[in-house]
Amino acid sequence: MTSVARGGPRPTDSVDRDRLLATFLGLVAVDSPTGHEESIGTILEARFRELGCSTTKDDIGNIIAVYPGTRPGTILVSTHMDTAGTDRGIVPIIGDDGVIRTDGSTILGADDKSGIAGCLELLRLLQANRHWSFPTIEFVSTVGEERGLVGSRHLDVSRLEATHGFVLDTAGVMGSITYWSPTSVYLTITVHGRKAHAGVEPEKGISAVRVAAQAIAAMPLGRIDEETVANIGTIRGGEARNVIPGTVELEGMARSHDQDKLDEQLEAMRSAFERAAREAGATVDFAAEEVYRTYKIAEDALPYREAAAATRSLGLEVTPRKSGGGTDGNYFNAKGIPCVALPTGMVDEHATSEHIALDDMVLACQNLVAIVTQPAQE
Ligand SMILES: [Zn+2]
Repeated sequence: MTSVARGGPRPTDSVDRDRLLATFLGLVAVDSPTGHEESIGTILEARFRELGCSTTKDDIGNIIAVYPGTRPGTILVSTHMDTAGTDRGIVPIIGDDGVIRTDGSTILGADDKSGIAGCLELLRLLQANRHWSFPTIEFVSTVGEERGLVGSRHLDVSRLEATHGFVLDTAGVMGSITYWSPTSVYLTITVHGRKAHAGVEPEKGISAVRVAAQAIAAMPLGRIDEETVANIGTIRGGEARNVIPGTVELEGMARSHDQDKLDEQLEAMRSAFERAAREAGATVDFAAEEVYRTYKIAEDALPYREAAAATRSLGLEVTPRKSGGGTDGNYFNAKGIPCVALPTGMVDEHATSEHIALDDMVLACQNLVAIVTQPAQE
């Protein structure tokens, strides 16, 4: 995409489409299934250094690369270096339609290598144009994002100076700004009944399966309301057809954009288990682990305003987006660095149909360049 500039070329016009594509393909070629980020981490850290950043790697492998600005202020630009699942040996195919995909046997890994490619292209431009006005940028590239935001959860943000930031890690229409994300809770439930021989002395048994079934049947699940969803996803228990099952383990989750509604849902699930257990003489362990916490960025907050201004400068319409899932942005927000999340062009992330249009990847990179080089906002 080209744009007609008033008063000469704009920084966003400098994004080099072929170079961005080559960078992206180079990153996709490096295997980085979540939990195995050593190679990509080494390569990325070297690349950030070559491009003029000072870098540090923390004890779990998160990389912080700092590029000095030409004006006051510091922003955070966040990506993650792991890819979802276990796929390796990813072979990208560039279609005549300008869309990059795989043959359908693996994911592509545009989540989040398209975001990282955008950062590296931005750095090349900043290095070549030190006369541009831009703030110091802290590029944080995390590990373990796909395993429940492990990297950002453990990241020590006291290492960072950034006042606000941008997370390059969403799908969604170009021009969207993810300003609202839910709280997500993982549930692990164990029902303890009493094992007994089902043929000989069933009176002595308390069926944990039956307790679990009654509890599940009694609780609200699925889409609870506009903001809230809940699920029991796995159930395991029992030993044999002639043994009354003594133990059942269940895994589930609940998410809501509204913390009060989430608390209410969790209470409904917990009490359904407790009631069913009590009535049968069983007991239950109900563990709820918060994976990430909701955030909501106001339209007049700095990261939203800067992202919106950049998006409009590219001639795109701004679309406020409420996400169903979390990003590292949830932890940056929780830890005091307000962030919005932005699209990289990726589509169908985590699926073998994952793909990205080069046009969109260019647009996402131009958006990043615009955010960084636009006049500072108060
Ligand atoms: Zn991602």
